Amino acid sequence: MLMSCQTVQDPIVHPMNQSSKQLIFNQKTLTQVQNNTTPPKRDVPTVTPSKPTPPSYTQWLAQKNHAQQANAYEIFLAKHQLAQIVPPFELLRTARDWQKCFGQEYAVPTQELWQNQVSTLKVLKLLVEQNILDDFEVTSVYRDLPTNQCVGGASESRHLYNSAIDFRIGPATPQTTDLQRIALTKTKLCQFWRQHGANLNLGLGVYASGQIHIDTQGFRTWGANLNRQTSICSL
Ligand SMILES: [Zn+2]
Repeated sequence: MLMSCQTVQDPIVHPMNQSSKQLIFNQKTLTQVQNNTTPPKRDVPTVTPSKPTPPSYTQWLAQKNHAQQANAYEIFLAKHQLAQIVPPFELLRTARDWQKCFGQEYAVPTQELWQNQVSTLKVLKLLVEQNILDDFEVTSVYRDLPTNQCVGGASESRHLYNSAIDFRIGPATPQTTDLQRIALTKTKLCQFWRQHGANLNLGLGVYASGQIHIDTQGFRTWGANLNRQTSICSL
């Protein structure tokens, strides 16, 4: 069975202050990277090509106060110029295996965790602006504790704190013709990680399943066996 972010332990001890779920980010270094790079001209906002909203998301929005919560979160992200990086239904996805957990396919993180997403989503925005990421789909962001435990996430998974993003390059079932483009994108991701990862405190996991994990909670990389040696960025 192929490994994924949902089924493996994160390889690095979480650096956060255990007494608080509020993570601290170094906004200065992120700004420096943004200023030091010259991304190709691209219309802003840098939205991925429009994707159809899944009926399941529409149904979820209609339940309880989900629409109100999702809207408030979107307004928060908009204040950081981050509302249009990925469609809301992708940014609120819990885990690929959510159905096995009798959980929710979508979840709005509690408000105290909203800020934790800002730095990581800014990295994703940079990757899009620099044409490193084009055809991609976010598959898992925030997981509550029961969902994270159910899908086998690490006990201190960054997903618990809404500070990680998992995504896939290309289609869910890549064809032979997709493989070269996917490989090239991974190579570009590694180049970006080597060039900017230290300043961004960027963690990059590249799994055999095709899932890619990013967070801004430590400059590190790992691959299928959860160590640096198996990361394609170490080759
Ligand atoms: Zn992950």
